[in-house]
Amino acid sequence: MEKVFDKYGLEEAVEFLKDHVDAILLVDAKADCFRSLSRKGMFTDFIEECGSYHELIEKLWFHFNGTMDKITGDYQVFIPTFGKYEGKYSRRLKINEGDILHAIQMTIYPIDENYYLIVLDELDNSEYMKDFFTNEKVNTIQNTYLFSMYVDLFKDSTSSISITEISDETVHASIKYSEWREMIVNMIWPDDQDMFRERTDPEYLKKNIMPGRTSSFDCLMQNLEGKYIWVKLIFSRAETNNSEEDFRYVFMVQDIHENSVQLMSTLKKYEELASKDTLTDVFNHGRIETEMYNAIEIVARSNRSVSMMMLDIDFFKNVNDKFGHAVGDMTLKHFAYMLKEYFLSINAVIGRWGGEEFVVVCYDADVDKAAGFAEEMRERLSKETFKVAGNVTCSVGVTEIQKDDTFNVAFDRMDKALYAAKADGRNCVKKK
Ligand code: GH3
Ligand code: MG
Ligand code: MG
Repeated sequence: MEKVFDKYGLEEAVEFLKDHVDAILLVDAKADCFRSLSRKGMFTDFIEECGSYHELIEKLWFHFNGTMDKITGDYQVFIPTFGKYEGKYSRRLKINEGDILHAIQMTIYPIDENYYLIVLDELDNSEYMKDFFTNEKVNTIQNTYLFSMYVDLFKDSTSSISITEISDETVHASIKYSEWREMIVNMIWPDDQDMFRERTDPEYLKKNIMPGRTSSFDCLMQNLEGKYIWVKLIFSRAETNNSEEDFRYVFMVQDIHENSVQLMSTLKKYEELASKDTLTDVFNHGRIETEMYNAIEIVARSNRSVSMMMLDIDFFKNVNDKFGHAVGDMTLKHFAYMLKEYFLSINAVIGRWGGEEFVVVCYDADVDKAAGFAEEMRERLSKETFKVAGNVTCSVGVTEIQKDDTFNVAFDRMDKALYAAKADGRNCVKKK
């Protein structure tokens, strides 16, 4: 045994490595250049004799990323340790060479501040490949976290980490937290920038996130292609047991775009459902009441004129009594349909107040204009032949919202106008 050990010294080991490791590169980061010390296998063509270090990193990342997307300058902050290493760094890359997929272990050894040694080695063992693909699947899940880093507010420093990393080594990026904020804010959707500034403010983070606690907010942020996507920005403060000056956080960006878009469309559907009257498909009582309150606000604060009317079907009880409830329902549907059709081209909102009573809020219409709509509507209805019920009429009370109206005052006027129409023999319009 000893004899074998004697045969191999450090020099032989280096010689062996040179022959068996696929590529060894020497980098001068300051001068932004690299030189290949040894290359073989796929790297013979893939990596040049010498070239720009920056471009090399971009090329490796580009392949690792597995997409054809070009990395934009703004986005470099999202690539862990874009070309600057203060400690040993190792990760696996996926490199496509035509149809062949290579799993590469890349390790970077900083020699001193500016010089690095990069070792690239293809993992050809099938177990490694299996392991690699399993990891890749895990990564796909974890990749919903676009980016993560440590933040130390006391030192005003950041250091990138990537939880999709195989090694959990931390790599120090040389960017201050304050500078990072200024950079990132430009990638946030303009309307969300104030919120971003507030929620990432060091004083806010110190005051609002207790040790061991997590806080997050959602906003729109530009992705690699410059497209805005929904992300969750998460700050998690480290547990601390000593100093009051200990403000260390983990910051993460999570891609929540698909879920958010889906959630918003579901919420919109529910919102619609919650505001519609199921029988007639016009707004329900709650929703039209909100509309009336809003209309009163608009009149109080602007010079717009808004009127509202209540339509009540005449002797509707008779329809039910004569033909039954089902015919009554059908008649209500038909009535509401005609309202919708008539007001389609008018800036108006229709709701069912209850029973056989409907409210229409007409925007940019004074009382005469609104009464004109009401009269035209009433006449149409009176000429319509309803299925089974035949001839159906309605009475209408119209009022214009006044500047100092409260809800009750305005409603009362409309109600009185309707009462007057009923008292005047029905099938007519009265205004107050
Ligand atoms: P008026 O001309 O004074 O308004 O007479 P009216 O019969 O229309 O008034 P009243 O308030 O006495 O009756 C309203 C009727 O509307 C009572 C009820 O049977 C009927 N009604 C209320 N809601 C519904 C409904 O959802 N479906 C059906 N089919 N009928 C309803
Ligand atoms: Mg009624
Ligand atoms: Mg009625």
